[in-house]
Amino acid sequence: MHPRYLDPEIETLPRARLEKLQAEKLASQVARVIAKSPFYRAKYAAAGFSASPRVAAPEDVRKLPILSKSELREAQAAKPYFGDIATVPASDFIETLSTTGTTGRPFHCVWTKNDLAYTHAVMRRTVWTMGIRPGDIVQIGFAYGLFVAGVNVHLACQQLGCLVVPIGATNTERHLEYLTGLKSTALFATPSFAMYLAERLKEAGVAPESLGLRIGCFGGEPGTAVPATRAKLEAGLGLDARDYYGLAEICPGMSPECEAKDGIHFCEDHAIVEVLDPETKEPVADGEVGVLVVTDLSREAVPLLRYWTNDLVRLVRERCACGRTHARAPGGIVGRGDDRINLKGAKFYPTQVENAVRAFAELAPEFRIVLAHDAAKRADNCTVRVELAPGFAVAGEAHATLIERVAAKLRAETGSGLAVEIVPTGSLERAMTKSKRVIDNRKPLVR
Ligand SMILES: [Zn+2]
Repeated sequence: MHPRYLDPEIETLPRARLEKLQAEKLASQVARVIAKSPFYRAKYAAAGFSASPRVAAPEDVRKLPILSKSELREAQAAKPYFGDIATVPASDFIETLSTTGTTGRPFHCVWTKNDLAYTHAVMRRTVWTMGIRPGDIVQIGFAYGLFVAGVNVHLACQQLGCLVVPIGATNTERHLEYLTGLKSTALFATPSFAMYLAERLKEAGVAPESLGLRIGCFGGEPGTAVPATRAKLEAGLGLDARDYYGLAEICPGMSPECEAKDGIHFCEDHAIVEVLDPETKEPVADGEVGVLVVTDLSREAVPLLRYWTNDLVRLVRERCACGRTHARAPGGIVGRGDDRINLKGAKFYPTQVENAVRAFAELAPEFRIVLAHDAAKRADNCTVRVELAPGFAVAGEAHATLIERVAAKLRAETGSGLAVEIVPTGSLERAMTKSKRVIDNRKPLVR
């Protein structure tokens, strides 16, 4: 019988001691970036201080200015290749990976030997928390290459004594072959790719219970914590689906869901997490939705302090049912600051549309949110395109009734009146990695 925690002492550390550890690490991290990083020295001088402010508690992180991704990109554009952010000489760099660059130029991340040691330790703790154990056959459906998720999961599972099957994010046939032949016990992928594999297995007539899958660890994009998506993934692949989150810029796989499935746990011994109001940038109360801001306490090469992730979460700091004391975000990443849809004054997120669409057995899991401007009505509108699930056929009155039911569910989820269009089964392209399901055809309003 394997133990419940990989690092029992740190994972269940009382919060007072956890916060003391954070304050100590923060004080030394701030002193270090000011002493060694030209980028931080200039940034903090511009904010009015040249020496480290007094740091006695994790909250003192608020004395520091916010750090945005665009600042990091600008620093690297001004001084290719890595900018002048690092606190160590370039000869100490031993690996580079980049962010995916879905919203602009990628940021080049670098790691020293110590950085890799701690990020791998975090990843081992993460996969253990999600239920991976020695002896598991772990099939990896993340892209390798420069995408941080693949290589980190690969190493962590290998280090724990699992058999790793590194297939990557594109070779669907191979995935199906290993799932049915080798009977892998765990699958790592984006929820989109996992959903696609479930669809393909269904088409091939493979019953989920005939597979060997026990656990699915799904990250790289939100979705797993959306109740209807989790239900479809669990039923379609016959496994226990866990959400997890990480950032190449900070720490890959830093936040896993435990068996309670009541939020992704942050590794607070390595990071301070804040949740700030998107406009005022002041902390919101625990349980309220805001932007996740992370301060890296362990990174050596390029530590990011008060990094504005643009990911929206709500944070809970009470001890979890699993016994861990580290803060968690129930519902995972509920959206991104920049993918909030603003329609005639109403605001909603693609994850809310996802939860509505995937609640219908008659519909396939793929969908698109199409935004347009109606010049005659001088108003924006939104149509959700959905597909019928294979084997379902509706016509005439049944077709109209299904559209009405989906529209009603969408209204309940989003608070907006969205049109529904049913398109032929299989006509929407399936995304393998980071899916883009919002198509915005609105022209800027001329006033
Ligand atoms: Zn927990």
